[in-house]
Amino acid sequence: MMNSKVFEGTSSPEIGRFVWDVTYACPLRCLHCYSESGRRASRALGHDDAMRVVEVMINKKPQRVSFSGSEPLIVPWWGEAARRLKGAGIHVTLHASGWLMTEEIANELAESVSAVVVSIDGATEATHDTVRGREGSFRKAMNALDILARVKKGRSERGQSCYHLGVDFTVTRRARGETGEFVRELSGKFPVLDHLRLGAAIPCGLAEEEEFAGELLTETELSELADSAAHLTALSQNGVQVNVTDVRLFRPDSPLSVEGDTHAHLEPDGQLRAFATYEAKVGSVLDEPIDVLWARALEWRNDPFVREQRSSIRDTADWARVGRTLDRRYGSKDDLIRISRRSSRASCQ
Ligand code: SF4
Repeated sequence: MMNSKVFEGTSSPEIGRFVWDVTYACPLRCLHCYSESGRRASRALGHDDAMRVVEVMINKKPQRVSFSGSEPLIVPWWGEAARRLKGAGIHVTLHASGWLMTEEIANELAESVSAVVVSIDGATEATHDTVRGREGSFRKAMNALDILARVKKGRSERGQSCYHLGVDFTVTRRARGETGEFVRELSGKFPVLDHLRLGAAIPCGLAEEEEFAGELLTETELSELADSAAHLTALSQNGVQVNVTDVRLFRPDSPLSVEGDTHAHLEPDGQLRAFATYEAKVGSVLDEPIDVLWARALEWRNDPFVREQRSSIRDTADWARVGRTLDRRYGSKDDLIRISRRSSRASCQ
């Protein structure tokens, strides 16, 4: 079923959430990386321009801002940016690989963000390190959780507020047999965790390339993962909440994918993407008013070619095909050069 709501311009949704990839620098090289961080120039802004972007977001009064898609802790001004946003009443989430975590950073996070999410893509070191493309990343992620949990527990005992602490598991075919062990182990080891979230890899960025297709869950496996929510919840210890996201709900043929209408996705240098998962850009918030850019993004989403492509999606393979088509049609010159090298990066051993 085509979801005609997604790109129809009868009303202009307001921005409910900004996702800002604050840098494309990253110590890891994940097989499924949507932003290809670590494989391109970081494009991170200096302090003053970064604070201008923060002001743009604050003025739009979104409910949420997420620092994502890279390793946000690499930029020196992340704490100030997060504090300003949170101080304006915005829920701020920071997604981290765990590679750079220290006690000092965890304490700074406690003061500056609403939620911290660490990515762990398997229950075992072998699986996680393969998916994440760097040996030692599982141990680093577990060490980061150890630090974050200790700081959270200490602050709770002293009556201080702290971040909501979660773990995201991007489920690939090689890791799908480890979901139970993941829930049992993580919830047992870190009782202060607030949630464990499991969702299949989405075919965008490197994961939309044909070389990655063998790692994307089949339709049957997607159903099995969605149906395992009750079983996984039963395995959880210490009251840790388990959320299983059925990523098919984000697909354009789902009536619920309309949620993406209100997401504004910023690249590190302030360029607004026309849509979160595609390489099309509509201009920089440092050069033009956000309202002008947002209107342009909505217009792009209503472009007949984009609509035709998106309305042709019926399954994951279609979803990946459309991503490849739109990225190659609307990506910048630099994007196209990078995309032409993707096949060697998305291959799965
Ligand atoms: S998925 Fe995240 S942690 Fe992995 S390479 Fe991309 S930005 Fe880095």
